[in-house]
Amino acid sequence: MRLLQCAFCGATCYPGRGSLYVRNDSKMFRFCKKKCKKHFFMKHNPQRTKWTKTFRQQSGKELAMDTTFEFEKRRNQPIRYNREQVKKTIKAMKIVSEIKSKRQDRFYDQRMKSKKKLQVNNKLREIQQGINLVIPPILRKEDQQIILPEKEKEIQDNIESVFEKKQKKEKN
Ligand SMILES: [Zn+2]
Repeated sequence: MRLLQCAFCGATCYPGRGSLYVRNDSKMFRFCKKKCKKHFFMKHNPQRTKWTKTFRQQSGKELAMDTTFEFEKRRNQPIRYNREQVKKTIKAMKIVSEIKSKRQDRFYDQRMKSKKKLQVNNKLREIQQGINLVIPPILRKEDQQIILPEKEKEIQDNIESVFEKKQKKEKN
């Protein structure tokens, strides 16, 4: 079972899935889904659309240059069937796929290391900028003690003024 790549996004096309388009010059294009086919016929460039594998590899978001990719390359040299060679290749395929997945994980971790640092730095900067907005709990209590008597005075004054007005009205 040969797994082929999508002509637009680069995802694996499993047999019996997706669609195949044969151009007038007998060049074949496989598509993993309808979305890719539509974009291809609208003549969109996969290097500019952000969700394709080519874009991700070009912008350094996925592993692009690696020795494991050389095993997947298509060769046009016909090879005579040899049972032992097939056994060896099947064994090698498993090992290569394991190595590939490990390398991809490592690449992802390395990529995300710098991002975590950036996130931490951004948060620290935010805290430094807005540190004036944050009042420590000890200061807050002192402020309340200072503010409360002033407020009480205001309230008392207001009440007194209201009483005075009432008294004046009664006298009249
Ligand atoms: Zn696709």
